[in-house]
Amino acid sequence: MSIESSDADRSWEFFEAVRAHMARHGHPATPRVYEVWYAYASRQDAELVERLDHAIALPHAVPLALIEALHEEFFARERQTEVVRQTGEKLSNELTRILQMLANAGRDTSSFADALEKIAARLPADGELRKIVDTIVLATRHMEAKTRRLESELERCSVEIRALRQGLEASKREAMTDPLTGLYNRRAFEERLRLAAAHSMETDTEMALLLSDIDSFKQLNDSWGHQVGDAVIQLVASCLKEGLPPGATAARYGGDEFAAVLPGLSVTEAEALADKTRELVGKKRLRDASSGKSIGHLSVSIGVAGYVLAERLDELVRRADQALYGAKGNGRNQVKAERVPGNK
Ligand code: GH3
Ligand code: MG
Repeated sequence: MSIESSDADRSWEFFEAVRAHMARHGHPATPRVYEVWYAYASRQDAELVERLDHAIALPHAVPLALIEALHEEFFARERQTEVVRQTGEKLSNELTRILQMLANAGRDTSSFADALEKIAARLPADGELRKIVDTIVLATRHMEAKTRRLESELERCSVEIRALRQGLEASKREAMTDPLTGLYNRRAFEERLRLAAAHSMETDTEMALLLSDIDSFKQLNDSWGHQVGDAVIQLVASCLKEGLPPGATAARYGGDEFAAVLPGLSVTEAEALADKTRELVGKKRLRDASSGKSIGHLSVSIGVAGYVLAERLDELVRRADQALYGAKGNGRNQVKAERVPGNK
């Protein structure tokens, strides 16, 4: 009873704190916003607290978009899978430790039994003491066998947990990967973009987005066939990946379109990087395997946009797409950037 009432008291305390945070930062009292601020006020998750602390320390209000991004990251299904994975990992590490301890215990028991047997051998065969020592040896051997059984049982458990964990990781990887290029797929791209935007809001750093599309790809498919088309998609994917700085993410956005999330890069820096990728694609030469003929020059058009603090992510994608459309309209094989106030 006393526990329940103290829990209730605390929930009012958290409610007051949540209300204060929402009012201070001008956030609406929607369930998602409430959930994030409640988790913060009640200190449920140390990582969430740390990340929000960063944002609170900045000179401007915590953007609502950051709260939405944190909700997605901390309360969505992906997060649950991650928690399951981490729990599995901890369990498996713990089991390995227990197995080690059991193996040591088994060894100790075994050498204890060996020593006792040696002592027993020196005692007169029909004496009282010999009988006692023989009984202890028997009990010790019994214990040794039990420890071994437990050890093999745990070993089996640990193998199963490891397999489950690997299965979970593999299916998560598969769900995030584009099978043709090995790059992240669109779903994973959206998640990475959300994370990068949250990071940008928390740290007041820049972030740019690049959208790239192969030029006249339909014609290439028509002339050389789908298989050659697939090889071209793979080649362009590798070019895009090659020039990326650490922390950046390349993804297949769909069809012959690719995206790169570039945390920490200004529009100008992203533009330079995009132009290097464009040049790299232009230098590649591909031959049709059956006829040996060169398939000619390849080119891509690229649109770049820089994240504006707290803007909607579909708006950022729309601006990058608009820049890409501009590059296509201007003759293809070029990079165009979409600058808005606040971008460098
Ligand atoms: P643009 O320069 O304006 O981009 O012209 P485009 O011909 O490249 O036009 P668009 O980007 O719309 O064409 C995309 C084509 O990509 C249409 C589709 O048949 C082809 N495509 C989509 N996915 C695949 C794939 O996985 N493999 C192959 N070989 N072709 C694909
Ligand atoms: Mg195209």
